[in-house]
Amino acid sequence: MSTIEEFNAHVMGTYGRYDLVLDKGEGDFATDESGKRYIDFGSGIGTNSLGYVDKDWADAVCKQVRTIQHTSNYYYTKVQAELAGKLAKLTGMEKMFFCNSGAEANECAIKLARKYSFDKYGEGRHNIITLVNSFHGRTLATLSATGQEVFHNYFFPFVEGFIYANANDITDLREKLDSTVCAVMIEYIQGEGGVVPLEKEYVDEIYRLCGEMDVLVITDEVQTGVGRTGKFLAGQNYGYTPDIVTLAKGIAGGLPMGVCLAGEKCADTLTPGTHGSTFGGNPIACAGGLEVLKKAGDPAFLRDVAEKGAYIKQKLLKLDEVEAVTGMGLMIGIKLKTKNAGDIVKRALGEGLLLLTAKDKVRLLPPLNITYEEIDKGIKILQKLITE
Ligand SMILES: *Cc1c(COP(=O)(O)O)cnc(C)c1O
Repeated sequence: MSTIEEFNAHVMGTYGRYDLVLDKGEGDFATDESGKRYIDFGSGIGTNSLGYVDKDWADAVCKQVRTIQHTSNYYYTKVQAELAGKLAKLTGMEKMFFCNSGAEANECAIKLARKYSFDKYGEGRHNIITLVNSFHGRTLATLSATGQEVFHNYFFPFVEGFIYANANDITDLREKLDSTVCAVMIEYIQGEGGVVPLEKEYVDEIYRLCGEMDVLVITDEVQTGVGRTGKFLAGQNYGYTPDIVTLAKGIAGGLPMGVCLAGEKCADTLTPGTHGSTFGGNPIACAGGLEVLKKAGDPAFLRDVAEKGAYIKQKLLKLDEVEAVTGMGLMIGIKLKTKNAGDIVKRALGEGLLLLTAKDKVRLLPPLNITYEEIDKGIKILQKLITE
C-alpha cells in the first residue's frame, strides 16, 4: 500500500490534501518521498518560521528532549519562565497562558475577556464583536467567533455571544459596540480571509472607542505575530498595544504552541482553577520557542523580514498578470487578473514550489529567514506559471 492509500484508509478526510508526501526538509526546501525538492513559500502555514530543521533550533529542542520532556502544571520549569519573560518584553504584555494551538489561545482570550467583564460589571456584558471574514479557529467557540457563514454549519448549536461587524466600517462598529460588549477581537491582517489588512483609521477608532468604554481589544496574531509582518507583532505597525493578544503558528518554529498574553488591565483575571491545559507550556515547545525568539526578537532580523517582503512585492508588481499585492512583510497575498489561484498552487507542485491560497489569492508565508536566492528562484517559477 502506498503512503497515501494507507493514510486515507485510516485518517479522517478533513483536509483537501495534495498528492504529495513530504519526507524531510532543510532550510527553505522540503523533499518528497521520491527525493524531489520543493522551495517552500508556505512554511507549514507560517509555522516553520526558521525554515526546516534550523540547526540551533533543532539542537535546543533535542537537548530539551534529553533533559526533561514534560512536567505537569503542578510544577514550574525554567524554560517556560525564560520564554514568558522574553515574550513579555517583546510584546509589552504582562502575563500569559501557554497552550497548544491558535484556537486554544483564542479560547483563552474569549474566557479571559468574559471573566474580566463579569468580575467588574457582573452578568450581561458577555458579547464579543468579531469581524466579518475573520478566522479564529475550529473549536466550537472559535468557530462561532469566526465571522464567515460557511463555518456556521452542521455543528449546531454554536456558542452564543458573538456579534459580527463589517471590517473597516466605523459606522457599523459604533452601532454594535453597546453595553453588552466586553471585547472586540480582530486580526490586523485577515489571513485565511484573503490577506486583507485593516485600515489605520479603523484600528484607531477601535482603540479609541474600546478605551472609552472599558471594552478589551483582543488581537488574534496567530498568523501575523512573531515577526511575520516585519515587527514582532503586527500591531506594532499600527502603533498599538492591545489588552489581549494571541500567538501560535510560528511561535515555536513548528512545534505545537499557542499563547494568550494579557496586558496590565487583565493580567490577573484568570485565577487558580479557571483555566488549564495538560500540555500547555510543554518544555520542548518552550525550548523551540526560545530559539525562535533569539532570531525573530532581534530588530535587525525583523528589518530583514520587512525588506524581503518589500523586495518580493516589488518583483511581483512587475508581472502583468498580477493585479494587486496585499499584506505586510512576509505575509503576502497575490491577486491575479485572469488565472485561478488554486490552479496555480497545484501546478506549482510540478515545478518544485510550495504555495498557499487564501480565498481567491495566492498566499505566501515563507520562512522568516528565507534567502534572497530562494526568493528569486521561487518568484521565477511563479512568474512562469502565471504567464504561460
Ligand atoms: C491558523 C489561525 C488560527 C487557528 O490556529 P490553530 O492552531 O489551527 O488552532 C486562529 N486564528 C488565526 C488568525 C489563524 O491564522
